[in-house]
This record gives sequence, C-alpha cells and structure tokens, in this order.
Amino acid sequence: MIARVTLEIAVRKEFDYLIPADCVDRVEVGTRVKVPFGPRLVLGVVTAMVEHSPHTNLRPISSVVGVSGMLTPRVLELARWMAGYYCCPVETALKSVLPEAVRKEDAKWKERLYAQVLPVVGEMPKLTQRQMEVWHVLEEWRELPLQELLKLAETTVETVRRLEDKGLLRIAPRVDERDPYAREEILPTQAMVMNAEQQRAYEAIRGAMDSMARLPEPVEVRTGEGGAGVPPLLLHGVTGSGKTEVYLQAIASALERGWGSIVLVPEISLTPQTVERFKARFTTGPNATLVAVLHSHLSSGERHDEWHKIRQGRARIVIGARSAVFAPVERLGLIVVDEEHEHSYKQEEAPRYHARDLAVVRGARERAVVVLGSATPSVESYYNAKKGKYSLLEMPSRATDQKLPVVRVVDLRVESRKGEKGTPGVFSEPLKEGIRQRLEKGEQTILFLNRRGYSSSLQCPKCGYVAGCPNCSVSLTFHRAKHLLLCHICGHSEAAPVRCPKPECGDGGIRYAGLGTERVEETLVRLFPKARIARMDRDTLQKKEDYRRILTEFRTGRIDILVGTQMIAKGLHFPNVTLVGVLYADLSLHVPDFRAGERTFQLLTQVSGRAGRGDVEGEVFVQSFTPFHPAIQFARRHDYAGFYEAEVEFREQLKYPPFSRIALLTLKGRNEDKVKFSADHIRKELDAKVGSWPGMVIAGPAPAPLVRAESFFRYQIMIRYRAMSRLSQVLSAMEATLHLPEDVHLVMDVDPVNLM
Ligand code: ADP
Ligand code: ZN
Repeated sequence: MIARVTLEIAVRKEFDYLIPADCVDRVEVGTRVKVPFGPRLVLGVVTAMVEHSPHTNLRPISSVVGVSGMLTPRVLELARWMAGYYCCPVETALKSVLPEAVRKEDAKWKERLYAQVLPVVGEMPKLTQRQMEVWHVLEEWRELPLQELLKLAETTVETVRRLEDKGLLRIAPRVDERDPYAREEILPTQAMVMNAEQQRAYEAIRGAMDSMARLPEPVEVRTGEGGAGVPPLLLHGVTGSGKTEVYLQAIASALERGWGSIVLVPEISLTPQTVERFKARFTTGPNATLVAVLHSHLSSGERHDEWHKIRQGRARIVIGARSAVFAPVERLGLIVVDEEHEHSYKQEEAPRYHARDLAVVRGARERAVVVLGSATPSVESYYNAKKGKYSLLEMPSRATDQKLPVVRVVDLRVESRKGEKGTPGVFSEPLKEGIRQRLEKGEQTILFLNRRGYSSSLQCPKCGYVAGCPNCSVSLTFHRAKHLLLCHICGHSEAAPVRCPKPECGDGGIRYAGLGTERVEETLVRLFPKARIARMDRDTLQKKEDYRRILTEFRTGRIDILVGTQMIAKGLHFPNVTLVGVLYADLSLHVPDFRAGERTFQLLTQVSGRAGRGDVEGEVFVQSFTPFHPAIQFARRHDYAGFYEAEVEFREQLKYPPFSRIALLTLKGRNEDKVKFSADHIRKELDAKVGSWPGMVIAGPAPAPLVRAESFFRYQIMIRYRAMSRLSQVLSAMEATLHLPEDVHLVMDVDPVNLM
C-alpha cells in the first residue's frame, strides 16, 4: 500500500509515500505523519491509501505523529468539504480541524511520579525514626504524587527511595490528566420536569433521532447549501424559556442510544456557569460520561487532554466554541448550536468557516440531529425554517412563569435637550430614576454600552481637528485612566494632548465627544456615590480570572450596578437584576452593513433578556436618538416575527441573504493605486468568467467601509449569487491562476458576517 499525504505547507497538491514496515499497522487514513519534502521534514495527514502510484522513486514516511488515525474519516471529509466551499487549500482546512496542541504533539500527556503504599509482607522491616514518619504519612493517604509526599512529610527523595528498596512502597509514573475544571465543585443535578412547550420541543428532537436511527447507512447528501433529506431543527425560544433543559434531556436521550453529542456555544457564553450546567447533569447515572470542554482559554496541555478524552471515546459529550464542530466524536447523534445567530461562529481567518453551517453539513453527513437554538434566530435560519428546510420549534414563554421585561424606549433627542449639566446624554431622567429605585430596594442593575474607553473621539471645536489613527481610517478613542488615545482597530496608542496639536491652532478647549463605558462609570460614581459599581470590558479584564471574579461579586450581591460592553449582553443569569439600561442603542444601527438592523434587534433582545429572571418583574430602558427605528420598536414589543417579516422583505428587494449567497473579495496592500488596479483586474476576470450567469450580481470594486486598517488600503468586490458551491469552484480556480503584485493580497470570504 501507498499513503497519499496532504502536507501542511500549502501547496494544493497531494504526494505519495511508501509505508515503512515498522509503521504499517499504524498508518491509515487520518494518521498524521512526518515526511521528507525536498531537503526538509514536514508534517502532513494521510488522506488516502492507494494500491499504485503514478509516480516512481517514492520516498518513505519518516515517522508517525501521535496516535494513528487522528483524524476520523468523517472529520477528514468535513475538512475537504470546507476547503471546497470556503475556497481555501485543503492543507489550511486540515490544519484547523485539530487543535494546535494535538497537531504538533508538543503538549503530551502529563506524567507524574506517584508513590503508592504496598502491603507489608511478613515482618515489618526495620526503619529509622525518619523513615517511619514518612511511611506513616503515605500509609494514611495510600497514594500521593511524589512531590506532594515530599512536601507533606518534609523529606527527601532519597528517604522515599530507601523505603521503596525495603518493599514498602512503589514509585511509578502515571498520567496525570489535566482537568481545567478541577477546582470547581460540581454537584450533580437531576432532569427537571419540563413544561408543555419544552416537552413538545424535546419530543420533536427525539422524533428526529428516531428517524435518523431508521435511516440506512450514512446518507450521501448534497450538502452544498444545507443538507436536504435529514431533519435539522430550529428551536426559537425566548430568553429564559429553558432551552438548556431541552438540550440536556436531548443529550441524555442520545446517550441512551449510545450516541455522542456536541454542544456549540459562542466563546463569550462559555462561562463556568454554562459548563457547569452540562457537567453537573452527566456526572452520575447509568449513562454518566465525561464532558469535555474545548475553548481558547485552555492551556495547550489542557486542550490536548480534553481532545484525547474525546478521541478515546471516554468523553461522549463535548461543549465548546466554534472549533468544537470538528471534535472527533464517534457515533455522533446530536449537535446543538446554541445562540445560532451569533457572529462569533464565523472564523475570521482562513478557513473562513461558519461553525453553524458546518454543524448542519456534518449532521447531514453523519446522520446526527442538529438543533439550532436562539431567542433571535438569524434571518437566514428562520427563512430556512419557514421554507420547510428546518422544522420550527417555538417556545414563546419563559420557563418559570416570569413575564418578559417591560421595555421602555427613551427618546434621547428630547432628553438631551433637558439634560443636566455635566451628564450630556448619558443618563436620561427615567433611567436615573430607575437606578435610584433599584438601589433603594437592594436590586441590581446592568448598564450596557457597546464601546469601551472614555469617549469615541477627541475634537478641537475651534479648528475642527479630530485625532485620527495614523494607520487606520478611524478616530482614536480616549482612555482616561491611562490618559491615552487608542486605536481599537490596530492598537496604536499615543499620549492624549491637553491642547489642540495643530501648530496653527493650539487651542486649549479640547472636547471629548461620544460615549464609552469608562465615562459611563465615572458619571455613575458622581450620580450615585454610595452605589457599588463595577465595569466589565476589555480594559478592566486584565487577568484570566478577572471575568469570573467580577461575575461572582455581582452574583453574590457585592456589586449593585454592572456596566459593560457586549460581554455582559448575553447568557448571564442573575435573578436579582431587575433593571437593564441600554445607553445608546443607535451605536450598532449606524454601521454600513445590511445586517445592522438585525444585529441591533438581536442585541436589544439579548440584553433585555438579562432583566427579571428572578421573582421580580424586569424593566428595560432603551435610550436612542432614533426611537422609531423598526429594530428598536420590534425589540420593544418582543416581536421577533414582526421584525423578521419586515427584514426579509428588505432583503428580498435588495437580493441580500437569504435570497442570495455572498462572496466578499477584499484586496489589501500598502499602495492604494496597486490595490485599485488589482481590484479592477479581478473585476474583469469575474465578468468574463461568471458575469453572464443568470441572477449574478457583482458590485465594486469600491473602497471598503474601513478603507484603511493597520496601514493597509482595502478595496472590495461583493458577489451575490444564489448557489455558492458552483461559484466557490470558479473562485478557487481563479485565485490559483491569478498573478497579483507581490504586496497586494486577496482575501476571499464566503458567507461573510463582517463586511467592514
Ligand atoms: P434560555 O437558555 O432559554 O435562555 P435557561 O435554560 O437559562 O433559558 O432557563 C432559564 C431558567 O429557567 C433557568 O434558571 C432554568 O433552571 C429554569 N428552568 C428551565 N426549565 C425549567 C422547568 N421546566 N421548570 C422550572 N424551571 C426551569
Ligand atoms: Zn489604527
């Protein structure tokens, strides 16, 4: 047999290698190998086993890396599909399906020396006083990591070795599994009695599993645009409707059938709270199993161990952020994508995959039921459900009889006119009054503003100067505590001036315009000097533990008011929060993106959902300069369906998704003329190759909304077409033959979520 290998260095080709006799039994499809390539040794994956090779003079594989068959054939297939659809080399796709720590095998199982007490056979050997003390310590514990024994017994390795010589104990290395949640105390939970809505959703999922079980061998579905023939499901449940309980019971049902599950959650909601809910349910019972967690905050050693627990089949449930969609779960029965509308499921570097869409593809291929859950489904998914592609499961009320909060929209145009001096447009009267009442009653408040820093720009009112970034086409944000001007795109920082830096002006009356969380906090302290206030944004979270610490303080009531950016908008569950304030709802509306309205609606709904999750009804104030915008008004009425109808009409008129698929081509380079020239050239190529396809829309080239970022100029071409697979093929082929100037780069993004 001959192994066909894809190499990690992107060359869009496969190479054949001989299999040396001593690794014959370890080389199979999916095995990672080191092979000679020119004068070097490079890493690769065996993607096929063939009888004959068209080439002669084959060289042998140098070595096998890690366990054999690291990539299951199913995951390998998925990677190939991904490469085709998202227009990236197979090598790049293969790289991203294994965590770095596993791929490189540089993080290994952690082995530690353990001392283990042995039964005394016959006479007790004669021991010195010191040896006796050490032996007593170990006898009490039976077994201890050697290092801990040394510490506990205040002794040396020599003494312990002497005891080993006398046959009283054994020192041996043992794998010490890293458990990222070892320090949490997790109490097992039982299944809850579900309400009628939950029960209906759960039965539908079980029904889908039944029909999967009846299907013959894995179906080869045309997964191009979704995956027909298999029931994937859309669970639309308002915030607090108890979707998690439905997931938990569905997972349990899959386990009973011997099937594994993957739960995808956005990175941001992978809080210890969320993980704990899953771990707690599956620690006991007849089908108890390990729950593996995969996300970016694990150390590479932890990631290595978690991944292998899955690969070995010991962990049958995986919970993780987007890359967990590649988890090597065998006999996969269920994939849950929670908060399916979240944009963080999209990877913003090659391969630019969308984990939700890959979940649908993977589910269809492996006959796993896919449940997409959200309080605010993406227009695309809801459209698919309406078209009958997904079954729609609705859970319109909260699980515990609580009402959805009352949402009041505050017109900032009116409020800012009567605003007190010193607090321009930060807090309207009704919001201030609301906070005052909560403080009196000992209830908590969350204030949301999606911009960190103190103010969004520094201006000189006299000459009109605005401090801008030298590398990007944005203004600099003022951070007061550090007294710095920062660029939120490239990280550029400079000292904040006290007078206008323009030599011909130099005026001292510099103004800070626009609002950031830092300024909100400062204003709050002034308005409510006795309140305990905390701020949560990227500036206040310096250490890994900060996030957890602030949330714990908030949960235990040591904080009255929590101010934050979108990291506090989602997933958090604090029963004592009865007031939520959205300080400036317009922020996400004025973005040059056809999804701006959708994003605003989602954000407002999610933030509002943090209020009134306990016994007291919640109240939400949404401050806005455009209070009658549909996204704000539909969110106020908790009217998803109404929002969807209005939105989908607009999308249809302009041929935006879901009525088309988008490929966004961005050209980047330091020389603007070269970038423009290359973009024009590509446009011509596109016109020639696909311009005549019926229904094809090609727009641009045009300067990107963010025309300059990190000192690169950026021009875009947007292609809209109804079926992506065919277009992807043409785009990949075009890219392969394209000759761009050396310093101009082309980025192709299929189904982009970020149009900037
Ligand atoms: P969602 O994920 O839909 O926003 P959660 O799963 O967080 O909602 O549920 C909200 C709250 O309702 C949680 O505290 C949960 O424990 C509770 N809950 C869920 N289902 C039930 C039920 N059947 N009976 C009582 N409480 C429930
Ligand atoms: Zn910048």
